[in-house]
Amino acid sequence: MQTINGLVIKSGLVLGRARLVSQPSLEVASSRITSREVNRELRLLNDAVDRVADDLGQHLQALRDAGSAREILEAHLLILRDPEIASLIHEAVSNKLESAAAAVQRVFSEVAAGFQNLDNEFYAQRSADYRDVQQHLLSELIGQKKADLQDWQPDQIAVLKEPTPSQVSAFSRLKVPAYCSEQGSFTSHASILTRSLNIAAVTALPGLCGQVRDGDALILDAIDGRVIIDPDQPTLLLYDQLREKYRSQEEQEARTPGEPTRTAGGRRIHLRCNLDLLSEIDRPAKLGADGIGLYRTEFLYLGKDRLPSEELQFEIYREVAEKAAPHSVTIRSFDLGGDKLSHLIPAPQEENPYLGCRGIRFSLAQPAIFRTQIRAVLKASQFGRINLMFPMVTDLKDFLAASSIVDKCRQELDAEGTPYDAEMPLGVMIEVPSAALCADELARHCGFLSIGTNDLVQYVLAADRNNSALTPYYVTHHPAVLQLLRQTLAAGLHYGKPVSVCGEMASLPEYVPLLIGMGFTDLSVNPSSYRECRRIIQRCDAELDALFAGQSFSCGLAAIEELIYQRLKPYYHL
Ligand code: PEP
Ligand code: MG
Repeated sequence: MQTINGLVIKSGLVLGRARLVSQPSLEVASSRITSREVNRELRLLNDAVDRVADDLGQHLQALRDAGSAREILEAHLLILRDPEIASLIHEAVSNKLESAAAAVQRVFSEVAAGFQNLDNEFYAQRSADYRDVQQHLLSELIGQKKADLQDWQPDQIAVLKEPTPSQVSAFSRLKVPAYCSEQGSFTSHASILTRSLNIAAVTALPGLCGQVRDGDALILDAIDGRVIIDPDQPTLLLYDQLREKYRSQEEQEARTPGEPTRTAGGRRIHLRCNLDLLSEIDRPAKLGADGIGLYRTEFLYLGKDRLPSEELQFEIYREVAEKAAPHSVTIRSFDLGGDKLSHLIPAPQEENPYLGCRGIRFSLAQPAIFRTQIRAVLKASQFGRINLMFPMVTDLKDFLAASSIVDKCRQELDAEGTPYDAEMPLGVMIEVPSAALCADELARHCGFLSIGTNDLVQYVLAADRNNSALTPYYVTHHPAVLQLLRQTLAAGLHYGKPVSVCGEMASLPEYVPLLIGMGFTDLSVNPSSYRECRRIIQRCDAELDALFAGQSFSCGLAAIEELIYQRLKPYYHL
């Protein structure tokens, strides 16, 4: 028996047998053609593009209800039909006399590498999408079929190096119950698809593929984030019982979504959902959430090749506000940086994009883009309860500068006679250490604060959130982080302003009792974690509160880990 620990992508408990899935990586040697062969190669290319389009179209049909899956596959279709890429490939075949496969290999690799070099997560995802379409197209061109997924048995768990979005959607079609992978991240497109298609999964499992053989008995524990290879009899028995318990809990939660979320001690907790893709817009209401605590509007750019107009944005924000009703939606203005928009707007290359012109800095530097968004948000505000917040705020001057642009937009709308909600609250994200340290001043002037722990942790600890080699340094519960959370919450309480936590910290089971114990009453979580977070909150009791009395978090990391992983464990552990 052997256990490997990793990262839960979608929770679940599955017992079965391993089936190794190979990586769809087709490398084509550069190969030349003669000018007489050009037309034949172009025909082969067009046929292959049509077949991939058909295949994606069939996936899309099969996924009629799965919103984010749709958006990702539609983005793949756009990439496949991208006229710029098509003309580069045609040019390579017609003028440089490269074979169609070699041209596809080279052109897609160059575009993907261009995105990868931008060194941020948004474009790393784009790069993965281009590689996925490239592999799909190459497998058609070279005539190699993905035989490896045929005849899937219901008790087989997929084991692979790193999933691609098209593999994940194939898993869903073949009813693969779960997968585990050696590499992957929580926010990759493959992981987003995994959650919306409801496939239990654990990733970031070091050495997985070298240690599992086809047919090995496997426990995929996507609750604690581990895979157990060749489990012994007592472990199998234990997991069999846990699986039953987990199933009945899920059934019970599905029956009672409507009650407001409260701790066992009766404290009301506003539990909201984060919204990334529009296609997930119905999920918060279905889950019974108290609205949308963070709508990441920059996702509107995913797979798009032009800036969204005011009218389009208005329609979208209006729909989001209407769907969130009677609850509120907190719309975050675009969290874009110069690098993230380079395909849409010429912006100077930055050495250090994460410390560069990002979030509100970018919006203030590009007032036309910002004003378009603010006008759209204001116009939509009469159709529901909208809060507007600004990302990457350094201090009060950022908030005042952004607010004055909102004021100007209000005046314009007044002059035009366009109605809007004059009381729409304006708030800031606390994700830069200076903002947390100046939380008092911000709380005095802003309508609300929302803590983005994903960035706050990376900036406080100087550890890139996307660099898995730095995981030991990226410690969400570091005392330095917790002290800033405590200070921010105290500032909000002092001025009577709501303070929520909307970073991934709030979605991670082990941190939920910690945040509740610290006194937070507003959490915004990713929809797939909603039920589990709610269940944990409902277990939090007076004993938990007592554990936190007088806790300043100025103690060392070891004491905090003892608190989280020992004393708080009964609250989040099944
Ligand atoms: C955060 O930084 O915690 C956050 C919610 O924003 P994002 O993950 O979109 O940067
Ligand atoms: Mg952030």
